[in-house]
Amino acid sequence: MSALAAVEMGTELLIGDGWTGAEGGATLPVEDPATGEVLAEVADATEADALAALAAADEAQAEWAATAPRERAEILRRAFDAVTARGEELSVLMTLEMGKPLPEARAELAYGAEFLRWFSEEAVRVAGRYALSPTGDSRMLVSRAPVGPCLLITPWNFPLAMATRKVAPAVAAGCTMVLKPAAQTPLTSLAFARIMREAGLPPGVLNVVTTSSSGRTMAPLIADARLRKLSFTGSTEVGRTLVRQSADRLLRTSMELGGNAPFLVFEDADLEDAVEGALLAKLRNGGEACTAANRLLVHASLAERFAARLAERMRGLTVGRGTEPGVDVGPLIDAAQREKVASLVGDAVDGGARVLCGGGPVDGPGYFFAPTVLADPAPDAALLHEEIFGPVAPVVPFGAEDEAIAAANATEYGLVAYLYTRDLSRALRVMDALETGMVGINRGVVSNAAAPFGGVKASGLGREGGAEGIGEYLETKYAAVGL
Ligand code: NAP
Repeated sequence: MSALAAVEMGTELLIGDGWTGAEGGATLPVEDPATGEVLAEVADATEADALAALAAADEAQAEWAATAPRERAEILRRAFDAVTARGEELSVLMTLEMGKPLPEARAELAYGAEFLRWFSEEAVRVAGRYALSPTGDSRMLVSRAPVGPCLLITPWNFPLAMATRKVAPAVAAGCTMVLKPAAQTPLTSLAFARIMREAGLPPGVLNVVTTSSSGRTMAPLIADARLRKLSFTGSTEVGRTLVRQSADRLLRTSMELGGNAPFLVFEDADLEDAVEGALLAKLRNGGEACTAANRLLVHASLAERFAARLAERMRGLTVGRGTEPGVDVGPLIDAAQREKVASLVGDAVDGGARVLCGGGPVDGPGYFFAPTVLADPAPDAALLHEEIFGPVAPVVPFGAEDEAIAAANATEYGLVAYLYTRDLSRALRVMDALETGMVGINRGVVSNAAAPFGGVKASGLGREGGAEGIGEYLETKYAAVGL
């Protein structure tokens, strides 16, 4: 599909029942990170546009909350079918605006669509309870109701899945919403919103606001009493700002934030399996994933062989434009991200790390970086302490199991950890000791629409997906009943 076809998928704001340009007609450019070329211009919303979107969500809320759960479920199921049927178009669109290779965009399509199917199934299973009180003199009636209009803010790295992971449970719960996608990847969200409307979602339930001034445009919504919930996926730094902003109104928040995932390989692990798992955990989305393995902690008896084998595999990968066949690793999202990755690698090398493959940017008009393996970075190397968000794998040896656990937990983040061992007791013992919301045991990928995704510590608050996901959009009400 050409960039022009991408434009035809929608570039305006969705407010209430209509697509509209921004107040004043301003637009913002969407770039293809593989070429630096502008793909499309989308509406650049102002504060007034954002408030109009919230007003539309607020107006639709009461009627939407009163719809039958089955009706909401069927809209989601139709949306699942439509997203799946238009999978190739949407995948190409994601590749164009975000850069990931087409096979990865197809994998995101399947993952993202699954939230629509999963929450279509959850919509009709919101349970309450009715019980005798312990004293026997009353009944306790517990019910659950939609929390109300939500603001959903998503990042650029998974343009479809980060939207469906929030929109689907909000729809299932009976909430209305304003979705604000990242400025760098708004096209997929706009196309998805169109599909939701075609699937029968009533006007005002989903509104989409694209803007180049997120902070300024979102602040009035967060301060507005009509908004009842903020769900954010993005960096820990912005998450902290949004939690502070939400504090005045004690706004309910869900925060899916950054990570610094350790990938532990114990001496009894299957080396080949661990290398393949590391490749997945490191290079999924070119390393631009909150779940990306950021530190490969490998038992000293295996570290040298593991690093050499990983470097051999990474050297064999093809870096290029995601729409080209045979490409394994696409570009980084922009020049700033490429510079950040290069500076983290430079800092590690200055501190004594050995470069086993890659090591720097790849020439070209886009923002490419060579898959890189670094052996033995110094303990204070910056890339062991912050999110790399690029195809760079630092390998650090460890001695005893407790040393590995201490190193894994020595970070403010706590999203996900991976561990490779053939010893079941060790796997469960280490899993218990890891301070993360998720653990991959002999697996390099944990994401699954049917599982609760989320972190502890500075990686966030709340869970998305699984039976837990819909709970983020429901309030619990208890009534004491005297008979
Ligand atoms: P980001 O800079 O925090 O931006 C995320 C979203 O927030 C974007 O839509 C952005 O809009 C918006 N935003 C930025 N400042 C804002 C403000 N002051 N008020 C309201 N909205 C604001 O993160 P990113 O660079 O897009 O994404 C990468 C980060 O997301 C990484 O840290 C990654 O770990 C994290 N992430 C976490 C998960 C998870 O589930 N835990 C999943 C994926 C990604 P603009 O585009 O206009 O800046």
